[in-house]
Amino acid sequence: MKLVILDRDGTINVDSDEFIKSPDEWQPLPGALEAIARLNHAGWHVAVASNQSGLGRGLFDVGSLNAIHAKMHKALAALGGRIDAVFYCPHTPDDNCQCRKPLPGLFEQIGERFGVDLRTTHVVGDTPRDLQAGVAVGCQPHLVLTGKAEPLRGKPLPEGYPEGTRAHQDLAAFADWLIARAPAPKPVA
Ligand SMILES: [Mg+2]
Ligand SMILES: [Zn+2]
Repeated sequence: MKLVILDRDGTINVDSDEFIKSPDEWQPLPGALEAIARLNHAGWHVAVASNQSGLGRGLFDVGSLNAIHAKMHKALAALGGRIDAVFYCPHTPDDNCQCRKPLPGLFEQIGERFGVDLRTTHVVGDTPRDLQAGVAVGCQPHLVLTGKAEPLRGKPLPEGYPEGTRAHQDLAAFADWLIARAPAPKPVA
């Protein structure tokens, strides 16, 4: 199974230091939903792994989060795309859970749900902790230069990113890269 695991805020939608608390505050980044639809059409399944500590902080409730995701799914469906599942961590840093990125709990849940070897998957996010969480279970790391990583455009990557991290201008550029990438050459017998 071809699977891509995406961060949400700053990767698919505009991020906010004030948290995304309602459907109105959820606004897709330019070209991001179209990129997911293109990945789908090329045979890639897409799952989301997202820290949502605003739940644990009491800034919004699960009903609001579901409404936000309903908006996301509907906007994506209008473009012919689909996110198979959204996995989120509702905890705050003080909860010491196992699912808040950079810990890999969400990724382990995704691996179990889809029955997929995570070493064949790609993780895409806008912060080091997104990539660290994926790399901990074998995903290949991709940084998008949107959201928190937008200030890094045109600069070399600073320390703190996993080895082998590839940077892309945005999710659309990542999708183009993945779709255009030739399959690994077969060894000559
Ligand atoms: Mg993010
Ligand atoms: Zn958690």
